[in-house]
Amino acid sequence: MPARILDGAALAKAIRSELRPRVAALSATLGRPPGLGVVLVGTDPGSEIYVRNKLRAADEIGVRADLERLPATATLADTLGLVDRLNQSPAHDGILVQSPLPAAMGPEAEQMVFDAIDPAKDVDGFSAENVGRLVQKRSGPVACTPRGILELLDHERIAIAGARVVVIGRSDIVGKPMALLLLHRDATVTICHSKTRDLASVASSADLLIAAVGRAAFVTRAFVRPGATVVDVGVNTVTDPALVGSLFAGDGQRRAAFERRGSILVGDVHPEVADVAGALTPVPGGIGPMTIAALLGNTIRAAEGEWRRR
Ligand code: NAP
Repeated sequence: MPARILDGAALAKAIRSELRPRVAALSATLGRPPGLGVVLVGTDPGSEIYVRNKLRAADEIGVRADLERLPATATLADTLGLVDRLNQSPAHDGILVQSPLPAAMGPEAEQMVFDAIDPAKDVDGFSAENVGRLVQKRSGPVACTPRGILELLDHERIAIAGARVVVIGRSDIVGKPMALLLLHRDATVTICHSKTRDLASVASSADLLIAAVGRAAFVTRAFVRPGATVVDVGVNTVTDPALVGSLFAGDGQRRAAFERRGSILVGDVHPEVADVAGALTPVPGGIGPMTIAALLGNTIRAAEGEWRRR
């Protein structure tokens, strides 16, 4: 039986509708809409798309999102100066700095900029203070992708307490916070990465498998215990016609989309996994929209003052 599809796009839409009255109430109390400052340094094409989607989603529910651009030649000091201005701004409840920053700023720059954001406005939850609070299971904004995943799993009544969970990927933005959130929900969590031995065998022990690798169709049938829930975080642009042909041999719609655009978005999970898994998140339409819904939720909670009171 093919896997049940966990429809993140539909749930994200419902969440956005639920957020609208909270935005309206806040606008009345604050005398202004909740505000999000979005910092974009340079013109990375992927970042341009992510930022555009975030701005559109905010606008749709009445959150004022201001795009603050700096050129690719901006210095770390310029970026810190902009963050400081947004920290002081009474019109901005949330701040996010789109990753990656230009490589020329140096390897330490990104975390330094995240750490400069007022922790109560840090809606991505990437600052050292908020990561520390997550480790200690204290209140604070939590990274949007893992938070969105948890919301989708809860909505779909996927059991977490006591479950064996394998997270493939240990990034600061997905893998690590995901593992912590699941640990706090009493799952037994294994974190895998590029040095993990017998990865497919470890992964196939999971009741719940989270793939955040960044490699198209990396997780094949061999990684998945029959009936397991599989969350596909990966967003990979594939331009190779042969790969598209082999991955989507039985899916005329996806092949046609590729023919039209010359590229297609593919997750970290191979389409064949749909024949083995019990439940599966699609790409696109799974974790991407849930991530944006979580960002809006964090912005509204910041505007409600949730993280000022702690
Ligand atoms: P990342 O920082 O590049 O981390 C990738 C992780 O995968 C690393 O921990 C790496 O291990 C591991 N890995 C790489 N190759 C591997 C292999 N052969 N075997 C086992 N592990 C391997 O990526 P990320 O930022 O976490 O993002 C992961 C994916 O999710 C990307 O496709 C990204 O575009 C997508 N994403 C989607 C959303 C969304 O909203 N849907 C949000 C964020 C990210 P090492 O640590 O050993 O190098």
